[in-house]
Amino acid sequence: MAGIYIYSEEQPVTEQLLTAGKTLANSLNEKINVIDFSEQDSESFIKKGADHVLCLKSDHPWPESYAQIIADILKEKDPTVVLIGGTLRGKTTASIIAAKLQTGLVNNAFAIEGSGSVIETKRIMYSGIAVCTEELCHGSIVTIEPRTFDAAQDSDHQGDTENIDIQPEAKTITVGNVCPIVHQDNDIATAEKLVCVGRGLSDQNDMKLAEELAEKLHAQICCTRSVAEDYHWLTTDKYVGLSGAKVKPNLYISMGVSGQVQHVAGMRDSKVIVAVDTNENAPIFAAADYGIVGDLHEIIPLLTKELG
Ligand SMILES: Cc1cc2nc3c(=O)[nH]c(=O)nc-3n(C[C@H](O)[C@H](O)[C@H](O)COP(=O)(O)OP(=O)(O)OC[C@H]3O[C@@H](n4cnc5c(N)ncnc54)[C@H](O)[C@@H]3O)c2cc1C
Repeated sequence: MAGIYIYSEEQPVTEQLLTAGKTLANSLNEKINVIDFSEQDSESFIKKGADHVLCLKSDHPWPESYAQIIADILKEKDPTVVLIGGTLRGKTTASIIAAKLQTGLVNNAFAIEGSGSVIETKRIMYSGIAVCTEELCHGSIVTIEPRTFDAAQDSDHQGDTENIDIQPEAKTITVGNVCPIVHQDNDIATAEKLVCVGRGLSDQNDMKLAEELAEKLHAQICCTRSVAEDYHWLTTDKYVGLSGAKVKPNLYISMGVSGQVQHVAGMRDSKVIVAVDTNENAPIFAAADYGIVGDLHEIIPLLTKELG
């Protein structure tokens, strides 16, 4: 047996993995199988390219507890490759499954390609200064972070659903307490437009410049780690980067952000990047589509005024 297997505990992420899975399935001439918990989602997955949906039926709430069951299914099916949504939970589950199956695991791939029987992944190394290309062994597991791919498009694709009643291993994770993360306002990770402030702001009053620009653009405000952790002008859920949020807006405008690798690691996938900085050698300009060398106190009000 073979095939491409896709799993995420989050339905939108499964739909994104289907985009990667479909390209791979075409090049390898393989079928796409989705492992999911909800029968309701099956139809949507099939329309988006799944050939077969395995619906695991259980009311156990903790996805990590399904690792043994998913590992057992994969052992029996002997897939060519397994794509798992790289959420925090997904990565935990992927590592448990990989350990149980004694198979390879590539985390955070941003590209996956198949040719003949060879599958290659690409992932960022050292916060973004290198790209690592790896050839997978048969049956390897690959995690792909949310929003790396757009959701697959609907089509008239046909497929089927198999319901499997399961008893997850509840003892895998024992949850003592649940403490939801409360975002003060919208989550920057899903924002369409972002205005990012860095240490180039002279003082907290300069936040007004960012707020005025953001208001005109209907954008949200985010920042570098220094602004959140050192200055405390914004909360820590608002900083972008390697240890902060990974963002992928259509428009990202930075003001006074130098663009160190740890920051760029979180925003490099933005569609259009505009940077304003006084230092023409600031690394942010290497990541930017449009760079404006100048004082933010002068440039940002001009931009805001231009927007009407
Ligand atoms: C393990 C590790 C993890 C990290 N993770 C993250 C992370 O997730 N996210 C993150 O952001 N950082 C992270 N950092 C910190 C990162 O290395 C940088 O220190 C930080 O991003 C710099 O923030 P900044 O650009 O605001 O400040 P600076 O690097 O000080 O840059 C300020 C910029 O403002 C410009 N400037 C000054 N005045 C003006 C003006 N008037 N007009 C226009 N421009 C002006 C300067 O030319 C400069 O380019 C991490 C560091 C480590 C060691």
